Amino acid sequence: MQEFEEFTQSPKLQNVRYDVRGPIAQEAARLERAGHRITRLNIGNPAPFGFEAPDSILQTMIKELPTAQGYSDSQGIYSARVAVAQYYQTRGMTEADPDDIYLGNGVSELISMVLQALLGSGDEVLIPAPDYPLWTGATTLAGGKAVHYICDENNHWWPDPEEIESKITDRTKALVLINPNNPTGAVYPREILEAMVDICRRHDLMLLADEIYENITYDGVEAINACTVARDMGDDVFTITFSGLSKTWRVAGFRSGWIYVSGPKHRAKNYLEGLTLLMNMRMCANVPAQHAIQAALGGHQSIKDLILPAGRLYEQRNKAFEMLSQIEGVQVENADGALYLFPRLDPEIYPITDDETFVIELLRQQKILVSHGRAFNWIDDQHFRLVTLPAVEDLEHAIGGIAAFLADYRHQ
Ligand code: PLP
Repeated sequence: MQEFEEFTQSPKLQNVRYDVRGPIAQEAARLERAGHRITRLNIGNPAPFGFEAPDSILQTMIKELPTAQGYSDSQGIYSARVAVAQYYQTRGMTEADPDDIYLGNGVSELISMVLQALLGSGDEVLIPAPDYPLWTGATTLAGGKAVHYICDENNHWWPDPEEIESKITDRTKALVLINPNNPTGAVYPREILEAMVDICRRHDLMLLADEIYENITYDGVEAINACTVARDMGDDVFTITFSGLSKTWRVAGFRSGWIYVSGPKHRAKNYLEGLTLLMNMRMCANVPAQHAIQAALGGHQSIKDLILPAGRLYEQRNKAFEMLSQIEGVQVENADGALYLFPRLDPEIYPITDDETFVIELLRQQKILVSHGRAFNWIDDQHFRLVTLPAVEDLEHAIGGIAAFLADYRHQ
């Protein structure tokens, strides 16, 4: 019989990682098939935790379904782009225009397209560590090189502008910021944003601002849109702002996001033509979900009820922080925004050599699923991320399980 060679994956994928949905999630699925109940604290997906979309979004989509059967314009339907432009106008970008808005199947698709359109082989992108790992994976897949700048756990997980600048080379094309941050929960103050804009301006870098959690902040902290800082500082940094419906409006499954381009667009004409080509090649974003955008942005902003004291997200974030802080050898910065905590395990007490094995053991023993720090391109094995989406009782159960696991781990 003739011997055939195995079908193998492209070498392009060789260094592409997205471990949040990798082997640990597969192990959780295996345990579930074997009849175990797993408490999932690994993905920032609001709906399964009982967060419902505002009814106006659902009703609009249902009403629009009959008219949403065909492809739309690749950039997105006009009414939704008007709504997004108005959203940025009310946030201070009075010049925002529907033509500056591009709609996508979630921010994820837009991150990939923006980087594919930008990067040649070996071009560098400055990305925070820890990061939302799609930024690193999509940079690598696009042929670029992710260069990580380290956020400082001892300084609210903020980046250090000097360190960012020290990593710039003549191949650096763009600076990515994630604010509010996944996985750390950090929200950057104006001075940090100004320093980042200033770096982009002096080194002629594109600023890529992932602000998908901009409406999820606590204790009166406000997330400032980087594009407004860039505009106030002279409007000479080409900025792409990313956001969408997945988190604030709790419809991650609809796959609905946008980008807003601002700054010296006349210098980015050729780039935007490339981006448009990629958008054309994928036809358009899911059309019913594009209709959800206007309803979401124009309706009652119910996220505010969830993040204020007594709101569910606020209470859960506090409960998770309190419980983790009480475990010996666990150091955790409370989140100013987003849906996550990124605790550190003291290496003197918990000397972990492989954080992925550590979280798999936690999963097998306690049936609690979290993500290991290295999945976020973090530099040591002493961190893990959990989501603060579960109800308080579920968090109590889960963090109680983590505490029990850690107590055993110490005495091994
Ligand atoms: N950016 C960040 C920082 C995220 O945390 C996520 C999802 O968790 C995304 C982008 C992707 O969002 P979307 O559902 O719009 O693709």
